[in-house]
Amino acid sequence: MSGPGSPFPSGSHLVITGGAGFVGSHMADRLLERGHRVTVVDNLCTGRHENIAHNAGNERFAFIEQDVCTPLTVPGPVACVLHLASPASPVDFARMPLEILRTGSQGTERALELAEEKGARFLLASTSEVYGDPEVFPQPESYWGRVNPIGPRSVYDEAKRYAEALTMAWRRHRGVSTQIARIFNTYGPRMRPDDGRVLPAFVGAALAGQPLPVHGDGTQTRSFSYVDDTVEGLLAVAQHGDGEPVNVGAPGELSILQFAHLIAELAGHPGAVLHEPANADDPQRREPDVTRLLALGWTPKVALREGLARTLAWFRAQADEVARQA
Ligand code: NAD
Repeated sequence: MSGPGSPFPSGSHLVITGGAGFVGSHMADRLLERGHRVTVVDNLCTGRHENIAHNAGNERFAFIEQDVCTPLTVPGPVACVLHLASPASPVDFARMPLEILRTGSQGTERALELAEEKGARFLLASTSEVYGDPEVFPQPESYWGRVNPIGPRSVYDEAKRYAEALTMAWRRHRGVSTQIARIFNTYGPRMRPDDGRVLPAFVGAALAGQPLPVHGDGTQTRSFSYVDDTVEGLLAVAQHGDGEPVNVGAPGELSILQFAHLIAELAGHPGAVLHEPANADDPQRREPDVTRLLALGWTPKVALREGLARTLAWFRAQADEVARQA
């Protein structure tokens, strides 16, 4: 993280909006391990206090419970604003559409203002959803996407596309040193069991001994990046990016049906699936072209089987804890 020419020397202060969420809380842990100071700004609308509670006693850690759509005041110098705040899972699209649009627009502007005030770098956590249902495989960053601007997913896709436009405008017209990372499907411990994403749905069903719910025929593909690899990718972009968007995700496509069978096998489940109606505008194929990310020195370290085994172990421990408390 630090080193010769690194923009974040040891002890730097980084702000993570959305740092009590799944990806953001792992980011906070990595930065603290490397000797940095971390301030998390989060309104806990989809994040959880448990994700950051273990850092409460660390004097290099601070938590500000706040909506990122309101002006941000953070004491002292800041090296980088990592803007991860945004509800991100399919159940949130229906549950909080206006909040998603507001967070992508007003929230991103408030985070950019903070970066400008502090002379800090800025990283936008964007998404592969900006490509919509793509016609190009794998998706390079030069692809402009195929997005339905008015469908149920549009609140998220278009909020992120607007956030990217805003970020580029602040780079070009306000001189803020911005970066954009387009994150592809990421999985790992601390995902919410009920967030509607495919992994918690499969793992939850597998651990309960129920059929795994597959939307549509299951031939749609995804690639899955373990959260530690995603965090390293985000940090590579934040430190070494040149301002152009960079895909952050794992190469390697897998059908949803293959993914279901792999999770079932690792969980010791018979592997039965239950087909449910396809989700509206669900992309058929999705896989990142990671040429740019590799050029920044990133390499994926956690193989899918290994990452899934760690994730299953975490979900099992959570389920045991809930059972113990009941
Ligand atoms: P998450 O829901 O676990 O984390 C998002 C965090 O942002 C939560 O802690 C939530 O409370 C916070 N938040 C939301 N709106 C806020 C607001 N207005 N003010 C303050 N805090 C707010 O989701 P995640 O999976 O950790 O995603 C983190 C970021 O990465 C998001 O921007 C998401 O769009 C992006 N992303 C994630 C994935 C993935 O596979 N996990 C894929 C693509 C993009």
